[in-house]
Amino acid sequence: MFEKILIANRGEIALRVLRACRELGVKTVVVHSEADREAKYVRLADESVCIGPASPRDSYLNMPALISAAEVTDAEAIHPGYGFLSENADFAERVEKSGFVFIGPRPESIRTMGDKVSAKQAMIAAGVPVVPGSGGALPDDPKEIQRIASEVGYPVIIKAAGGGGGRGMRVVYTEAALLNAVAMTRTEAGAAFNNPEVYLEKFLENPRHIEIQVLADGEGKAVWLGERDCSMQRRHQKIIEEAPAPGIERALVERIGERCAEACRQMRYRGAGTFEFLYENGEFFFIEMNTRIQVEHTITEMITGIDLVQQQLRIAAGEKFTLRQRDIHLHGHAIECRINAEDPYKFTPSPGRISNWHTPGGPGVRMDSHVFTGYTVPPYYDSMIAKLITYGDDRHQAIMRMDIALSEMIVEGVHTNIPLHRELMQDARFVEGGTSIHYLEHKLAARA
Ligand code: ADP
Repeated sequence: MFEKILIANRGEIALRVLRACRELGVKTVVVHSEADREAKYVRLADESVCIGPASPRDSYLNMPALISAAEVTDAEAIHPGYGFLSENADFAERVEKSGFVFIGPRPESIRTMGDKVSAKQAMIAAGVPVVPGSGGALPDDPKEIQRIASEVGYPVIIKAAGGGGGRGMRVVYTEAALLNAVAMTRTEAGAAFNNPEVYLEKFLENPRHIEIQVLADGEGKAVWLGERDCSMQRRHQKIIEEAPAPGIERALVERIGERCAEACRQMRYRGAGTFEFLYENGEFFFIEMNTRIQVEHTITEMITGIDLVQQQLRIAAGEKFTLRQRDIHLHGHAIECRINAEDPYKFTPSPGRISNWHTPGGPGVRMDSHVFTGYTVPPYYDSMIAKLITYGDDRHQAIMRMDIALSEMIVEGVHTNIPLHRELMQDARFVEGGTSIHYLEHKLAARA
């Protein structure tokens, strides 16, 4: 195992990685921007380095500053967390070229999966089902584009190969709107992602978002650790996740999970990863792979009893991979609510000083947060301030515990989306389970 690693992130995930390190006896270096100087987790670390001003570009995205922080502190490896540079293949490469271990996949894997066209092709090669579509980047010839679209069948969605974070996508319902939409998405993609390549796929009208967690050793061993249902979204941002996914036949999930593990074995994938699927009418369709730890990894930890961040460290350190598929068992049900500092219905960010912070507890309650009374939520970063996770023997108990936990939680000084979460825990359709990715937006629209 490593002696010392550097955590190239902030907020709850920096704290989460720090905790995993402490349990493994690994020393930590936490980097922080000028805006995060007062964060308490910085003081929990063995060492800390200020890497620049508040603006992410000058700090958490500043590759030379991160690498020199690792150099001056003699860290052996860098954990990128999620967001920021976690899926930046150039960063992973620079980390390795500078003589450090990148706690994540090989740069080539990040690059392949970061391009949605090559990711889809890799999945087709590995036998993972994908959304029917153009099979590659769209050609220039307008006639050919029209032919592909009518073969796939309307509605279709035009997606940027380099897209991410819900950007660079356009839905097209008729042939009349097709070529214009392709041109616009190309222009936007060129400007936003520096890659004008776009592709086309069938637009699924009412899918659920189901994803599979994997761990792999980079040498051909891999396991999958159950699925997560992340259909409760607004503007493609997940707000509630649960595991397992309610109402899907286990045999079907097992088949798809095994496919994902097999794809990892074939690709010699290394580390933690997530295969994201849309699920509709009993079928799974791959949309993308995340080559990092995800926000919602916690619920998988709750139902498998496996610490995914520790596994990332073990794999990166080159420890023998001892997990076997037959040892992975799912127990009970877990739900995660992302607590954001924002107006619960207008969704405007609500940074500022938290004058009172009281967190819930009790059986089956887990709180992952870096926040405390007196903490100031900076305006420069993501608005998520906590993840509240509950676990129960079954889904009903997990929901009950979440509702109670939310009711115990007190946050004063900033607005949060706790009222929305409470409403959802009592929502008849959510309680029934299996809502689609559009459910929340429709509910919010009806409310307005
Ligand atoms: P990103 O990397 O930007 O998150 P994804 O490919 O994961 O892009 O897609 C983001 C979201 O867009 C999905 O969760 C889903 O809501 C919607 N989406 C993407 N592809 C399709 C599709 N073929 N049909 C319907 N919705 C889609």
